Amino acid sequence: MSEAQVRADDRAHVFHSWSAQGLINPLPIERALGSHFWDYTGKKYLDFSSQLVNINIGHQHPRLVAAIQEQAAKLCTIQPAFANDKRGEAARMIAEVAPGPLNKVFFTNGGAEANENAIRMARLHTGRHKVLSTYRSYHGSTATAITATGDPRRWPNEPVAVGVVHFWGPYPYRSPFHSENEAQESERALQHLRDTIVFEGPATIAAILLETVVGTNGILVPPPGYLAGVRAICDEFGIVFIADEVMAGFGRCGEWFAVDKWGVTPDLITFAKGVNSGYLPLGGVVISDEIAETFRERPFPGGLTYSGHPLACASAVASMQIFKEEGIIEHARMLGEDVIGPELSRLAEKHPSVGEVRGLGVFWAIELVRDDRKTPLVPFNAAGAAAGPMNDVAAACKERGLWPFTHFNRVHVVPPCTTSVEEVREGLTILDEALAVADGFY
Ligand code: PLP
Repeated sequence: MSEAQVRADDRAHVFHSWSAQGLINPLPIERALGSHFWDYTGKKYLDFSSQLVNINIGHQHPRLVAAIQEQAAKLCTIQPAFANDKRGEAARMIAEVAPGPLNKVFFTNGGAEANENAIRMARLHTGRHKVLSTYRSYHGSTATAITATGDPRRWPNEPVAVGVVHFWGPYPYRSPFHSENEAQESERALQHLRDTIVFEGPATIAAILLETVVGTNGILVPPPGYLAGVRAICDEFGIVFIADEVMAGFGRCGEWFAVDKWGVTPDLITFAKGVNSGYLPLGGVVISDEIAETFRERPFPGGLTYSGHPLACASAVASMQIFKEEGIIEHARMLGEDVIGPELSRLAEKHPSVGEVRGLGVFWAIELVRDDRKTPLVPFNAAGAAAGPMNDVAAACKERGLWPFTHFNRVHVVPPCTTSVEEVREGLTILDEALAVADGFY
């Protein structure tokens, strides 16, 4: 099919996520391999976005493609009430890498459904109804997940679900608590959470839902002690701790689950994306023995036709085998420690527009500013149009063959976990050039 036909069909009939349909012009993509994809003109892009922080294993991994083909030839689909080899194997492998007594997996089609069902489990387990989640978070676009979301994507959807209360999580660079260092930020954020619980009524609160490392809202890495403090507060008040690892899990942070970095065990972990790099839609909830026990005699009142889909589960099994055999998690950790972190710090010294660098593994952000008062380099021009500085930075990357992930005043550096050191350096060299554009607005 010609590029013109792809564009014509798209513009005439595809209704895109999060977009004003008349103002977009999606780039047609023809093929992909490893850390690259190609458009219909043959132009090659280095994928520093991982397709919404998703293809942790890279594009078109041949073993993963083969595993899907093999399963497709045998059994494409069965409904959730049956047992199946790939369904059971995927659940076992996920439980084996999950921390502590998290031994059961409820499969969904993606991250929002995972959070939806984790909240449902927490409510039924505790008999309480409120859910606490942070501002500057994203949990998905279904009813409770978008209500729990603490960013502007929630506003046009309100009112949807009830019982969600937002609080401030730690963010040392723009501290909501006016902290001067990470230790203070951690301590004050925990005190604020405790105060919120006390004023909301501990006996009404079923769950605290947190992104272990905040993703689309800026790669906010929790300061030391914060997650352990949240765990302790949950234990004190009988609240279920749900860690949303839809973006942070499965190698992205250089660990199987990001919580491993801090040695913290939540009661429920939600996942999607990296579990099978999105080759087929798959997400889920890893469930503690204690919460699973609630539903031993009593039915869990929820389900999905495609829960534990054999093709998706076969791809998760293959993906996890590849992760283990090819040392992908260790590679992601090394990229963060030895290459991305040091290189981004170097860029921060060189470019006045870089306000802060933060991240771990292959999960990094640089926050761009206009001045030394940290005024964000916003994605609008002086007339308020959706163009301007950040779009110019993104365009400078794309012209040079780098596909970036930009959000508000940040460039997120989120290549696949499998990206080579040379490819990462190549991408960062392009980013270095593009940052001259941001410096022009400083
Ligand atoms: N939670 C987090 C932290 C996410 O980043 C996302 C998506 O980006 C979701 C949940 C929602 O996942 P999905 O789009 O698969 O529903």
